[in-house]
Amino acid sequence: MALTLYNTLTRTKEEFVPANEKRVTMYVCGPTVYSRAHIGNARPPVVFDVLFRLLRRRYGEDAVVYARNITDVDDKINAAARAQQVPIKTITDKFEALYLEDMAALNVIRPTMDPHATTHIPQMIEMIQRLIQGGFAYEAEGHVLFNVPTYPDYGRLSNRNRDDMIAGARVEVAPYKRDPADFVLWKPSTDDLPGWDSPWGRGRPGWHIECSAMIRTHLGDSIDIHAGGQDLIFPHHENEIAQSVCATGKRLARYWLHNGFLSIDSEKMSKSIGNILLVSDILENGVPGEVIRFALLSAHYRQPLDWNDQLIDQSKRTLDRLYGLLRGADVAPAPDAPAAVVEALEDDLNTPLALAALAKLADERDLAGLKAGAALLGLLQQDAEQWFTGARAGAGIDAATIEARIAERAAAKKARDFATADRIRDELKAAGVALEDGPQGTTWKWA
Ligand code: AMP
Ligand code: ZN
Repeated sequence: MALTLYNTLTRTKEEFVPANEKRVTMYVCGPTVYSRAHIGNARPPVVFDVLFRLLRRRYGEDAVVYARNITDVDDKINAAARAQQVPIKTITDKFEALYLEDMAALNVIRPTMDPHATTHIPQMIEMIQRLIQGGFAYEAEGHVLFNVPTYPDYGRLSNRNRDDMIAGARVEVAPYKRDPADFVLWKPSTDDLPGWDSPWGRGRPGWHIECSAMIRTHLGDSIDIHAGGQDLIFPHHENEIAQSVCATGKRLARYWLHNGFLSIDSEKMSKSIGNILLVSDILENGVPGEVIRFALLSAHYRQPLDWNDQLIDQSKRTLDRLYGLLRGADVAPAPDAPAAVVEALEDDLNTPLALAALAKLADERDLAGLKAGAALLGLLQQDAEQWFTGARAGAGIDAATIEARIAERAAAKKARDFATADRIRDELKAAGVALEDGPQGTTWKWA
């Protein structure tokens, strides 16, 4: 059966055909690490984790190369570092470790790679130089700007005309811009800000060029799938396309996927409303990570999803029922996921239909099929007994979470936040994990 995906670029559901079946490439814009992930931020990594699993099933584990970047230089990070009077790395190391911990709790597989913006500055500079040489970008007052009118296809992904775009980007009017739609590739840094030497003086990159440079470095000039939340379509992805196409002469990605937004009790999540719900808050309230994952997959990824108590209760009850069936039943998973589950997911990642197929397998007492189908969704992976008896309302601790906690503890120690480091050690101890600090770092074992 064909795998079909809705492509934002063509606004149609298309059959997915990779350029090279032996190296299927996928990139998802990752977090800016200056605060903890909220539940909306968890939606893209979870839904595209299902896509990653589906592609690995179809093309083989080693054939799929998935990169999810870490944005570790950004004005919001600078502001946080300044407020706390610490170097930016203290902030970014800490929040990256926390992000990985949250993702592990949601059973998100680590992508093949997680490139960091700060270790790709030379590649960004090289790309900007190409853009200047090609006449697509210009230097002005220590800034380098991409000149939007040089790329006639600009606006194609977001389907916007020029006026919409200028209004939508809330573009800064700056005297050095040739065109109001022009956007920053490089900007100058004052001495108190992080900066790197460049042909245009000491400065730092704009956000969009980071992704273009990291994609080019690790996945190539042209990739199969590029994904992210729908708010990234414009301007971020539109700008990535303009930069990459003009620098390389190749199309950046063939399939563009975007997830819909998550609201809380029917309201938009926002700082001003004060209803930002962190993944860690939900976990600390005793909701197992797997319940969160199930709830995130209960709606189709392109649809809006409302997060509320009923959704959590319903997800928990369903998992209780499924684990209840598996409890005490010593069944190995079937060698492959049942057709109904695969077909649902291969139809533009129809996770609600796949979950309905799991319910049907449960009704039919096809437990081997249930386990194999659930694995493709990253569900029902823990021991059923542990689900009911494990710590924290059923969420047992796994190796990925332990590793992530150890990384978080190391970051805390480095930041001389010994209270947090000790707390993590104690929490792991309570979960039955003993840590041992040595010259090579920290190792762990079950106590
Ligand atoms: P940010 O840190 O704001 O760049 O967001 C990281 C990712 O989360 C991006 O892919 C966003 O599109 C996505 N995102 C942010 N808020 C929401 C939300 N409420 N619902 C779904 N996705 C979101
Ligand atoms: Zn990006």
